[in-house]
Amino acid sequence: MIDLKGKCVGVVGYSRSGRAVARRVLLEGGCVRISDRSRDARLLEELKGLGWEHETGGNTESFLSSCDLIVLSPGVDGTKSPFRELKAKGIPLVSEIEFAYPRISGKIIGITGSNGKSTVTTLIHHLLTSAGRTAHLTGNIGFPLTDTLGEAREFWVVELSSFQLEETVDFHPWGSLLLNLTPDHLDRYPSVEEYIQAKLRIFQNQGSRDWAVLNRDDPRVLQEGMKVRAEKLLFSRVGEADASVSQGWVLWRGERVLPVAEIPLLGVHNLENVLASLAAGIACGLTLGEIRDGVRSFKGLEHRTEPCGEIEGRLFINDSKATNLDSTLKALESFDRPLMLILGGKDKGGEFSVLNSLLKSKARAVILLGAASDKIDGQIDPGVLRYRASSMAEAVRIGYRRGERGDVVLLAPGCASFDMYSNFEERGRDFKAQVSLLAEEVKNG
Ligand code: ADP
Repeated sequence: MIDLKGKCVGVVGYSRSGRAVARRVLLEGGCVRISDRSRDARLLEELKGLGWEHETGGNTESFLSSCDLIVLSPGVDGTKSPFRELKAKGIPLVSEIEFAYPRISGKIIGITGSNGKSTVTTLIHHLLTSAGRTAHLTGNIGFPLTDTLGEAREFWVVELSSFQLEETVDFHPWGSLLLNLTPDHLDRYPSVEEYIQAKLRIFQNQGSRDWAVLNRDDPRVLQEGMKVRAEKLLFSRVGEADASVSQGWVLWRGERVLPVAEIPLLGVHNLENVLASLAAGIACGLTLGEIRDGVRSFKGLEHRTEPCGEIEGRLFINDSKATNLDSTLKALESFDRPLMLILGGKDKGGEFSVLNSLLKSKARAVILLGAASDKIDGQIDPGVLRYRASSMAEAVRIGYRRGERGDVVLLAPGCASFDMYSNFEERGRDFKAQVSLLAEEVKNG
């Protein structure tokens, strides 16, 4: 671990994690230089007020070359200029995770994958804490890892995006989980392969005293997972594995844990999330009884297959966090009722035709909303009925009026939200607000 006393640390991206790193550097007696691409006037004001060395509107080699260490915020591409050149000069460049890692004293459990990270991270944290163990919920969710350093806990449960795993060198979790590998962020990575390689960095320093939970049903996870040195714990929704499902029961190595029907979350993907968390709970020393109680009392997360009301027999589901096509597929797979699917937003480079077979068998209609509407319109099967909406209010009303009693009106957009909203939470809240307004209108005739 670099002793920061008297050292100068470049913080690239004054994001939540960038702020946490800056605070920590100062606490350890170093000084910071903040470099942020944004031209936001409020940011500039804030940085001026803090009195630290800073540059905004870009990241330059001249500003950063006097640093002893550079910490990149998630999403900053360390392979691009000027970072490539700074690295070549011998300046260590690390992610926030790598920066925080040597300062952690507890057992680290890292969770990655294309989908389900937040749900599984929160569920494992819930299983541990409801069983009376102490744990931080951190990483891409909750407080940045660096913000948790002041308080000792037995476990650090850390959600890790591919961006956070980039630029990790020594980061070594005791437990790791790789939930699934499906294309995402193709707008940011040159190829699916590079995105996958970033995720696989979670295993790079694990050894035989560590453990790794792997999805047996995902061929690429299985193929890559077999190379891992840690003890492998497999989960499968359809076949044999350490954590599996048979005759309506969740099993651990053949022993019954709880009936699938008692899992308080909707969807086949959430069954997978429970299986993965079960394996992690066992690796952490929890009993089957503690895990059963924890699963039963888990509330699920907002904006992930979240039921948000029923109007005249139409069930409204908010899955605004379905920002890539695999999560939309999982949402479609999860319902046996006809679907009015709200799809669209800011395109992330996926192929919407992958939805066709499920759309043909399950969707009554697709409601197109947002910037990707034309692309989706061109890629989905001509036989699928479609409507266009210019606002969420209109989309929700089309779902209600053109749908029938017994349908599910599902927001699982398969796209990012930034064309119309500042984030997926805002989009999900708009959907829920429109559902409430519609419920009032229908009630009042
Ligand atoms: P992440 O943190 O990886 O984005 P979330 O738990 O926030 O994962 O869920 C993101 C989206 O993916 C939501 O639409 C959710 O319903 C869906 N989802 C959750 N778990 C899974 C899974 N295991 N496989 C596929 N989709 C999932």
